[in-house]
Amino acid sequence: NENLVTRKMLDKLASTSFPLCMKHIHTSLRSNHHLKYGGRRQYGLFLKAIGLSLDEAMMLMREEFTKKMPSDKFDKEYAYNIRYMYGKEGRRVAQNAFSCSAIILRNPPSTVDCHGCPYRHTEPQILAQRLQKEGLTRDQVEKIVNLSSQHSYDKACSRFFEYTHKMEEGALGQLITHPNFYFEESQKVLT
Ligand code: SF4
Repeated sequence: NENLVTRKMLDKLASTSFPLCMKHIHTSLRSNHHLKYGGRRQYGLFLKAIGLSLDEAMMLMREEFTKKMPSDKFDKEYAYNIRYMYGKEGRRVAQNAFSCSAIILRNPPSTVDCHGCPYRHTEPQILAQRLQKEGLTRDQVEKIVNLSSQHSYDKACSRFFEYTHKMEEGALGQLITHPNFYFEESQKVLT
């Protein structure tokens, strides 16, 4: 993990290589200039694991949050949290990014939250709209929504990967069980 990812690269990476859960949190951060606790943790630990440094993570969040709040409020209420995720505060234990099962099983989002797994936590109609926006065909959307309603979230996520990377169904060869695995596989395919 070489810390080569900078905050300026995130819009592009989100569109090409983030799983749907992280795309959604990224979009929410950009449009609301805020993330609630669940989103900050799920996204923050994911970003750390793709190689975003603490300084870059801090600048990303500060730039967004201070569009809606004074910077001393950000420093007082949010900066600690970010340093904590990088193991720089409290017990100083660097924390690992959440796996899909952790995201699916723990801490379900309420209607005002943007964290969670879209295949598990998003209403079928809204999920279908989001998938359409990602450029999937009607057929592909239907398949993924069906897999989600059968609780096959890993298959739904893997199909999404294959469709958006112009691969045959099943060509990924492995199911997605971790958002960072999704990201790494995508980078392998695209670079
Ligand atoms: Fe994210 Fe995992 Fe859900 Fe895919 S299956 S959207 S990586 S939580």
